[in-house]
Amino acid sequence: MRLTRYFLPVLKENPAEAKIVSHRLMLRAGMIKQASAGIYSWLPMGLKVMQRIERIVHEEQARAGHLPVLMPTLQSADLWRESGRYDDYGEEMLRMQDRHGRDMLYTPTAEELITDIFRAHVSSYKDLPLTLYQIQWKFRDEIRPRFGVMRGREFYMKDGYNFDVDYEHALHAYNRHMVSYLRSYERMGLQAIPMRADSGPIGGEDTHEFLVLAETGESEVFYDSAITGLTLGDRDIDYTNWDQCALIAREWTEPYARTDETHDEALFNQVPEARRKVSRGIEVGQIFYFGTKYSDAMGASVVNDKGEQVPVHMGSHGIGVSRLLGAIIEASHDDNGIVWPEGVTPFHCGIVNLRQGDAGTDRVCEDLYAAMTAAGLEPLYDDREERAGAKFATMDLIGLPWRITVGPRGVKNGVVELTCRRTGESEELKPEMALARVKEIYSSV
Ligand code: ATP
Ligand code: MG
Repeated sequence: MRLTRYFLPVLKENPAEAKIVSHRLMLRAGMIKQASAGIYSWLPMGLKVMQRIERIVHEEQARAGHLPVLMPTLQSADLWRESGRYDDYGEEMLRMQDRHGRDMLYTPTAEELITDIFRAHVSSYKDLPLTLYQIQWKFRDEIRPRFGVMRGREFYMKDGYNFDVDYEHALHAYNRHMVSYLRSYERMGLQAIPMRADSGPIGGEDTHEFLVLAETGESEVFYDSAITGLTLGDRDIDYTNWDQCALIAREWTEPYARTDETHDEALFNQVPEARRKVSRGIEVGQIFYFGTKYSDAMGASVVNDKGEQVPVHMGSHGIGVSRLLGAIIEASHDDNGIVWPEGVTPFHCGIVNLRQGDAGTDRVCEDLYAAMTAAGLEPLYDDREERAGAKFATMDLIGLPWRITVGPRGVKNGVVELTCRRTGESEELKPEMALARVKEIYSSV
């Protein structure tokens, strides 16, 4: 993409309404525009990052054997009356009527709808295990929408639902989701810590929230610092292997890690003092096992291998896709702007032409642009007639992890400069070497 052809409405001033850094930077970098309280339009660069996040989620769900579906945002109230949640959900549910006076609602989550799909089409244990998920807009009429996309009213969420014949299978589904979530966050350059949680209005027996540590997080968190050393790295994961998934889940849930809602001071005090940490965190996902709550209420059952009719065991699992943009920025920025992790960056590399219109620098930039594109990467070429300082400030603000700077002096010596956004370190290289380095960096992302 050439910057002169892009729509990147950056703001020079800090928007007064933004109280936290991620909200401020998303507005300044022209990623979102507020439409009304807690509701945003996604501008090209904001949408691009969201799509990268979405893709990681889809890929990891596919690896785990989960199947994508898409359910409507507008639902009839009838199903919610069956489960009893139409009345229970309260003020956060946006309710409306169609022209015939029928009660409708904008989906805050979709347990009812998915259970209805299940009971219409599945009747035997032979069709299990089954996990269906979607990435779809949700609406919750939050009393205090704030912090930009972090606590919106309309937000984009992955919600998945597993159906299993008994507790043991459902437990594996729980562990499998935990591993797939850990892997997804890791690919986004994030550490999200699973913390034992309350189940809240969804109602559950076992549940973990995933929290990203950040000063601006809404939850107070208490954890054993041993957990921050854990990574999956390039561990080979077989999602059909019950033992492996259980082992990883145990590894990640053994160290103490809880939010203020479930914090247990006595247990926490058993952690060696030097490892006891109190901090704040942003919830970027949650997994639930809730047994037969919805299947009992809505009559979703299967025939098991003994020929008995049994209610199906279920769980539901969510990732805050739009909130993740805020969480990633909270975890990865500096005074000059965003620092995107390679896994989610909107463009792989910036190309800055220090003297637009100079035959030499223009040619090197165009060659790099073409070669990078041919290699399957997406560069953002700053081809504006602007001062170097302004070009660097824009690149720093929008946070591309790598930048190649092309100036007349370098071109004369046959070199360009490759700069890492995170460390600020630069290196002079031949253009083809700079390109090879960028290709190599992304080959493992
Ligand atoms: P919270 O406690 O933050 O209100 P929740 O526990 O009610 O969230 P879940 O039902 O677990 O939310 O939804 C799954 C994920 O969706 C959450 O982990 C969070 O990342 C995201 N999410 C929930 N509410 C919002 C919101 N108002 N704006 C943006 N993302 C949200
Ligand atoms: Mg939650």
